[in-house]
Amino acid sequence: MNPFKWHCPYCNCFGVVTETNFYQTQTTLDKGQDGPPRIITMEFVICPNPECRRFTFKVTMYLSKGRNEGEPENREFQWTLLPLSGCEQYFEGVPALILADYQEAVRILTLSPRSAALLARKCLQNILADFFKIAKPLGKAFPIVLKSRLDPVIAAGITARFQKEGRRLEEFIKQGLSLASAVKPEEVRELIWLVEILLRETYVSKYEKLKQVQEPPQS
Ligand SMILES: [Zn+2]
Repeated sequence: MNPFKWHCPYCNCFGVVTETNFYQTQTTLDKGQDGPPRIITMEFVICPNPECRRFTFKVTMYLSKGRNEGEPENREFQWTLLPLSGCEQYFEGVPALILADYQEAVRILTLSPRSAALLARKCLQNILADFFKIAKPLGKAFPIVLKSRLDPVIAAGITARFQKEGRRLEEFIKQGLSLASAVKPEEVRELIWLVEILLRETYVSKYEKLKQVQEPPQS
């Protein structure tokens, strides 16, 4: 294989992938199924950063057409199984429970937008209670955080997004979901976007700052 540059979606580092941290295996499906034989490859990249070592996992299915097997033009499907699709990955410092709720919300977004919305809202509630120590209902706590506890640039960006979304997002936060209302995945994606912004502005930012002051200076 030819070494290639790579960005780790987990720890955010850049590195070069060589044979030492790359593994690929393949199998062929040729059992009289509809269409031509298929070649299926499984590809793993292990992060070269010794403090990370997490891996990505991708499966690709090619139509077998003789000579150009495994070429991009013969690709029928590709699935990235790890990291979990749609989720932001760089969330160092986020409490495990809040992170699990966020990841689950992303995973079930298209299947059940209503459940995803409830989980995303629970994430927001937990961030406000745990990080900002505001033990009030979300509808009351969120405006306080927006007004006085967030970076003004971020707060202005969130407010602008609220206005663009025609107050639907704001209503979600204030009142939650009414059982009668239908929810679209695009609307819940906005709520998840808000969770991602807050996670980065709170736990991840704190983690990065702590890392800076705790690491000894390079000599
Ligand atoms: Zn990494």
